[in-house]
Amino acid sequence: MAVTVTRVIPGSPAEEAGFQAGDRLLKVNGNEIGDVLDYQFYSSETEVELEFESGGELQGVIVEKDEYEDLGLEFETYLMDKQHSCTNNCIFCFVDQMPPGMRETLYFKDDDERLSFLFGNYVTLTNLHQREIDRIKRMHISPVNVSVHTTNPDLRREMMGNRFAGEKLDYLRQLAQAGIRLNCQIVLCPGYNDGAELERTMADLGALWPSVSSVSVVPVGLTKYRQGLCQLTPFTPAGAGAVLDQIHRFTDAFLKEHGTRLIYPGDEFFILAGRPLPDSGYYGDFEQLQNGVGMTALLLEEFESELARLEAPVQTSPCDLITGVCAADYIRGMVDALARRVPGLQARVHVIENEYFGGNVTVAGLVTATDIERQAGGKLLSDRVLVPTCMLRHEQDKFLDDVSREALEARLGAKLTLVENDGYGFIQAVLGGNAQ
Ligand code: SF4
Repeated sequence: MAVTVTRVIPGSPAEEAGFQAGDRLLKVNGNEIGDVLDYQFYSSETEVELEFESGGELQGVIVEKDEYEDLGLEFETYLMDKQHSCTNNCIFCFVDQMPPGMRETLYFKDDDERLSFLFGNYVTLTNLHQREIDRIKRMHISPVNVSVHTTNPDLRREMMGNRFAGEKLDYLRQLAQAGIRLNCQIVLCPGYNDGAELERTMADLGALWPSVSSVSVVPVGLTKYRQGLCQLTPFTPAGAGAVLDQIHRFTDAFLKEHGTRLIYPGDEFFILAGRPLPDSGYYGDFEQLQNGVGMTALLLEEFESELARLEAPVQTSPCDLITGVCAADYIRGMVDALARRVPGLQARVHVIENEYFGGNVTVAGLVTATDIERQAGGKLLSDRVLVPTCMLRHEQDKFLDDVSREALEARLGAKLTLVENDGYGFIQAVLGGNAQ
């Protein structure tokens, strides 16, 4: 396969080698290039032989560079290939429960092992074939993030609506045996993969440790848009407590034997069960942070250490903070602690109920501009509104409901400040950049 070069970065090894936009890259060190993983893997060495087509002529050049230095070529798409979509029909799929009329791209169900390696996306392994597994092993692509849900093949088939979902668990074992680090995820659905099934899944994944290096267990998210979909019930507070007890029985024993808990319940279980979140030491190396697991504990720890160092600023400006229901108590607690150190601080916390998605959706990352406007509009204390970055899409220009930052600012009559999930950023944002 030939890939067309769209840009050559000035001053890069590729420019020095004479590459131009429009050239077609054919081979790197004798290997055909199918996608970005091939390209990155084969071009990582210090001496790279490139075969390419320029102006209709075949050419070859040897480029010398530092190990892992980028050649400096850009292509039409980042993946250099089409994005792989999923072949499943999961009973708990969030995409199937989204309201109509959202941005087209949000309905795309990706399941692409390249995105797992490059950006930490979770994959199910169901659309992979042996040759792709062999490539992951050969290139030692690690870590790979896998949505497992259950290690019972029949149940996995049923829950994922894919007749191959059970047998593809063999890929998980192959990758583990090859020493690929695996972060796994379980979306827990009451009556399906909880109880004895969860016990089995935890034991099976524990047997693959240390290749399986972390597992998050998160409760199924159910919106009000489930008409025609499989009947699922949300966890009750008692059910969430039972899940925590079950997981902790397993993790206590695992910790004693191996020095790691391996399995980490999502924050929602603690909050729903009315139990305090564990402190940051519970989460080990925070390997499930990309899944949001341990994020609140880390934020609190950073906040407390920054607060201890804080010298009260001379002046503060009032602000409003936006949060979802799930993290509300913790955000309020942080604002109260800050107010005790900074006399005169004026900050109002707005806890936004997720009316847009409805159901049991409470996380901050799914709060929309529509709900913020409806619930905080007219109740602002200031013209400075603090919004966590997770409420905006990756490009940080729009909320999930396609409303831009500017549009929400105009509707609220206030300026939005994006706040990273870190203690220092939080304090700086609340104090209007006046912390010392
Ligand atoms: S893998 Fe399942 S949950 Fe993920 S997008 Fe596909 S159908 Fe939805």
